[in-house]
Amino acid sequence: MAYQTTNPYTGEVVKTFATATEAEVDAAIAKADSAFRTWRKEPVPERLKILAKAADLLEASSREYAETLTLEMGKLIGEAEAEVALCVDILRYYVRNAAEQLTPRFLSATGYGDTDVQLIAEPQGVLYAVEPWNFPFYQVVRIGAPQLAAGNTLILKHASNVPQSALLMERLFAQASGTEGLIVNVFASYEASERILGDARVRGAAFTGSEGAGAAVATVAAKNLKKSTLELGGADAFIVLEDADVDKAVSWAVFGRHWNCGQVCCSSKRIIVVAPLYEEFVEKYRTEVAKLVAGDPMDPGTTLAPLSSQSAVDELTGLVQSAREAGVTVEEVGAVPGRGAFFPPTIMTDIPVGSSTANTEFFGPVSSIFRAEDEDDAIRIANSSPFGLGGSVFSTDIHRAQSVARRLDTGMVYINQPTGVAADIPFGGVKRSGYGRELIDLGLKEFVNEKVIAVTDIDGQF
Ligand code: NAP
Repeated sequence: MAYQTTNPYTGEVVKTFATATEAEVDAAIAKADSAFRTWRKEPVPERLKILAKAADLLEASSREYAETLTLEMGKLIGEAEAEVALCVDILRYYVRNAAEQLTPRFLSATGYGDTDVQLIAEPQGVLYAVEPWNFPFYQVVRIGAPQLAAGNTLILKHASNVPQSALLMERLFAQASGTEGLIVNVFASYEASERILGDARVRGAAFTGSEGAGAAVATVAAKNLKKSTLELGGADAFIVLEDADVDKAVSWAVFGRHWNCGQVCCSSKRIIVVAPLYEEFVEKYRTEVAKLVAGDPMDPGTTLAPLSSQSAVDELTGLVQSAREAGVTVEEVGAVPGRGAFFPPTIMTDIPVGSSTANTEFFGPVSSIFRAEDEDDAIRIANSSPFGLGGSVFSTDIHRAQSVARRLDTGMVYINQPTGVAADIPFGGVKRSGYGRELIDLGLKEFVNEKVIAVTDIDGQF
């Protein structure tokens, strides 16, 4: 595993970085711990000033940051700019809200006065953040902003194909704080997890990525009796009920499945349409998908980017071929350039519920469309997935959609829109999509020590 920037559009290897030695890993832990000892003593408003500065710096150089995203993992430049803007929003969300979220609260406990029992949110130390390449800044800021606000510091092990994005995140917080160590990037090997999580100064692991890697990191955390959060894969259901506005549902489905070239944990990967609308929906969906324009992701006219790497194309090709061999109807829709890590938009139908194809996460522009008999059947298909990240319900009857939403076994449901990503709405799933939440106060509290301080009058009854 080499840390390397390879432009997915041109195939050019731009820059290679050496994997960290054990001594470099140790130095990273020491640096993050040393920063923690100072950072934890900073009053919360002082910490939030640093986050505000990071937001300003990011915003001021948003084009430079966005171009690095597009260079390293190939996303459309407009989507890269939107990712940078989302990071700015998250930082500013905590600037506005973290002080209140971290305010000690008094508990009304039996036998104590109103102000005798306090719950205070204390930082714990260094956290190990292992992050994926699909949103190279958002993933880091989603964990970094709340945890820095809370007083923790981070060791970042980013994906090996986005090393320059990782360095930019480290640099951002160094520039904002005028000091090193709030986020320490390390080009770590997989084995380094043992060393990092085995160190007493490291107090937890936040992982985002695939199931297998998440289980590996969480196992090392558990072995060392440390907490982990896991943000894993998803195969979000996109349910279209018979009273939905078909044209709007089609437009949202095309967007929900193809933004970030389909490489989103909460993409609308399984489109479930009830029988009366099925034929019309599929025909309109096919027509709209065929309009996607594949090309240079730096060109604002492009609407379908390359995948993040040629190996991602190879993996997806293998999964689609397996589906084809299993009898699924597979249709390529639209053309892609002959060079670059492109994958043609593909629509799959006739997928048996419970089959390997139905339960696989296709990380790219591959749409699985299921026909449901009715609302109950749609919910049954939706809940048959091993994943439980997000989901959508399309209906003109909001109360009906809300009642369907309550029956979906996921962490998030969005009505009349694909699963969303926002600075002020928490993110996370259930089942094989992992555990824990990121963003708002839920994310901030994942790694703080909610300490009790209870006072009894020294002259009180023994
Ligand atoms: P991945 O292979 O699991 O990689 C994610 C991170 O884990 C990378 O930094 C990777 O490093 C590292 N890693 C892999 N194996 C490891 C191990 N044994 N020990 C320590 N670190 C390890 O994930 P991916 O396939 O690139 O990303 C796509 C997956 O992430 C999809 O399943 C997607 O749904 C999920 N995802 C989930 C969320 C969410 O919030 N729920 C968000 C985004 C993505 P290397 O790059 O060096 O291999």
